[in-house]
Amino acid sequence: MTNAKVLISGASVAGPALAHLLHRDGCQVTVVERAPAVRGGGYSVDFRGAAFEVLDELGILDEVRECDTKMGGTTLIDESGAVSGELPAEAFAGELEVPKQDLTRILHRITADDIEYMFDDSIVELAEHGAGVTVKFERGATREFDLVFGADGVYSQVRRLAFGPHEEALHHLGLSGAGFTTANYLGLDHSGMLQFAGNAAIFLFSSGVPDQLTVSLSFATDSPALDRCGRAEQEAAVRAAFAGRGWEAPRLLDAMAEADDFSFASTCQVHLDHWSQGRIALLGDAGYCAAPTAGMGTSQALLGARSLARRLAAANGDHCAAFAAYEAELRPYVAENQEKGRQAVAMFGGRAE
Ligand SMILES: Cc1cc2nc3c(=O)[nH]c(=O)nc-3n(C[C@H](O)[C@H](O)[C@H](O)COP(=O)(O)OP(=O)(O)OC[C@H]3O[C@@H](n4cnc5c(N)ncnc54)[C@H](O)[C@@H]3O)c2cc1C
Repeated sequence: MTNAKVLISGASVAGPALAHLLHRDGCQVTVVERAPAVRGGGYSVDFRGAAFEVLDELGILDEVRECDTKMGGTTLIDESGAVSGELPAEAFAGELEVPKQDLTRILHRITADDIEYMFDDSIVELAEHGAGVTVKFERGATREFDLVFGADGVYSQVRRLAFGPHEEALHHLGLSGAGFTTANYLGLDHSGMLQFAGNAAIFLFSSGVPDQLTVSLSFATDSPALDRCGRAEQEAAVRAAFAGRGWEAPRLLDAMAEADDFSFASTCQVHLDHWSQGRIALLGDAGYCAAPTAGMGTSQALLGARSLARRLAAANGDHCAAFAAYEAELRPYVAENQEKGRQAVAMFGGRAE
């Protein structure tokens, strides 16, 4: 792998983690990121199991631990608005939870001196030939690379160009939802509240920013079509799903209309028969998103990066053997996480199949 010229699309979690490990192993790494700078995400992500080994291998475990949101448990609320139970902190915060923007900032910092970052750009064409891949960019000049990796998320451009349209890979789990923040009028302190009723769920929590309440209003849907609609239609669908709902719903629907950070997304998984195609391979959400409800996406992204780097280092330049070994190693872990994702989605009103 020494001196291999590698392009990674996506500068969030999987991309910079792989960039760091491949640079350590002697590769010349370029990362292209569509956003003008490293993105945060506005939400927190958590780590479980072997992901801690990868944080350690990247040399950032202590620094990441310092960003702990210290999120506590979540109170379950029944349909009448009464307390009906308590979920432990691990249910949503794993073994350690940090704001995503802190993680991406740290990963960018440890790579910035050694890796070439191309922000505000995107791959528009990938043409593989015997000796490499010719890559055309939206803004930058066309360049040659030995290997190309897609770490560019659920709607991966690399996957679309090299593996086929999004519809073939995305598996909608029958759940959509709006997210936004509002004033912490319930006074939640590193804790959450969750109410399921019918096919719609209200999840509220406050952790990092004390006077801010993060709100998720999710509900059962037949397709991800609403994702492509404008805010007015999305808000109307949320209102319809929560019409007549008691407890905090009326106040939260009013807050939604005022929110300046409204977002809307369907819950999807990525299912592919193969994670590589010649000299091009996928990792993280781009290749095998387990759905945010699984709480495993960040751990998967880190373990995917480590597996790819290790297999490439061991394969002595045989990228096909490395990609096959990567897939054989990670598939059982991903299958387990995707099953967890489906089960959690079913709890929120989506489909478990
Ligand atoms: C609301 C929400 C809550 C979540 N909660 C959790 C949680 O609690 N725990 C957890 O583990 N996970 C959680 N996740 C999932 C987690 O964020 C992802 O699984 C994880 O970030 C995957 O990392 P990634 O690097 O593979 O992809 P992403 O973090 O999705 O990053 C993809 C990157 O690629 C870039 N990109 C996109 N298109 C292009 C392009 N054409 N060219 C160049 N760059 C491009 C994007 O800008 C982005 O920087 C949550 C996700 C959401 C949406």
